[in-house]
Amino acid sequence: VKKQGKNGHLFYTEDLSDQMIARVELESDLRKAIERDELVVYYQPQFHAEDNRLIGVEALVRWNHPSRGILSPGVFIPIAEETGMIYEIGTWVLREACRQMKQWHREGGPLIPVSVNLSAHQFHQPNLVEYIRSILEETKLDPQYLELEITESMMMDPAVSINILHELNKIGTRISLDDFGTGYSSLSYLKKFPIHKLKIDRSFIADLSENQNDQAIVATIIAMAQNLKLDVIAEGIETKDQLDILTENDCKKIQGYYFSSPLAASEVEKAFFIPSRV
Ligand code: C2E
Ligand code: CA
Ligand code: CA
Ligand code: CA
Repeated sequence: VKKQGKNGHLFYTEDLSDQMIARVELESDLRKAIERDELVVYYQPQFHAEDNRLIGVEALVRWNHPSRGILSPGVFIPIAEETGMIYEIGTWVLREACRQMKQWHREGGPLIPVSVNLSAHQFHQPNLVEYIRSILEETKLDPQYLELEITESMMMDPAVSINILHELNKIGTRISLDDFGTGYSSLSYLKKFPIHKLKIDRSFIADLSENQNDQAIVATIIAMAQNLKLDVIAEGIETKDQLDILTENDCKKIQGYYFSSPLAASEVEKAFFIPSRV
């Protein structure tokens, strides 16, 4: 049976029910994923372009599904958001990331900041600040080594958001505005948000070497960050050309496949520190 979809595409209802079954299966598998220890945090290293030193990592969750292999967050985070499982998963990722930073340091590695993505639901969760505080106490990570990545789209109600951000500032964590430039940030609010860093979205980097508009946008974001005394990092750097344009524009903090893709914790150790130990 053919049906007209919402967006005008034709699809088969059979396919649709297959999809629904797959989705329901995935949802019930996800419920068990935490207790079965199937979630893993990967870490994508961030570097300083001047001396190539490791300056931090971004925590990116993966699901090691028993039959489907490694699933990316794009597949299961939306399900987690819809079903409310994001609270449990998000808390787990935060704790795991903080724990790992302490472990690396304890074992002779560097003490580096970790950036953790917050979803919209998590950001607006009433006890967010309390559980972040308790995770920091439990793992004994100095709060300045935890950076929370939020997006402009979570800040639709600026008054509410500013309150949450102030609470987070009080406990000493840092805050980064992820995917910057893709949402609707009113520049007047950007000035008022108590944030520390802008993360230039990958979409402006992808065609940076060829696209003069992207070059203008990127240069403007970097200059604006400097004027607002905000830190700035670019993500999605895949080529030397992109890196050169960014450093010419005075963006020194870099994340992307050009340097490293997200890695399991043990791979980070092997590639970037304590090589003699492992
Ligand atoms: P994001 O926060 O924008 O993360 C960056 C994504 O870009 C990651 O995809 C990363 O693997 C990918 N990436 C890094 N360098 C490059 C590059 O040079 N080129 C290209 N093409 N891609 C690059 P990933 O890990 O699949 O994560 C996708 C999204 O899922 C993230 O986007 C983030 O929004 C979300 N996510 C990941 N982990 C978590 C989490 O623990 N909690 C929440 N709420 N969301 C998460
Ligand atoms: Ca991010
Ligand atoms: Ca991003
Ligand atoms: Ca994103």
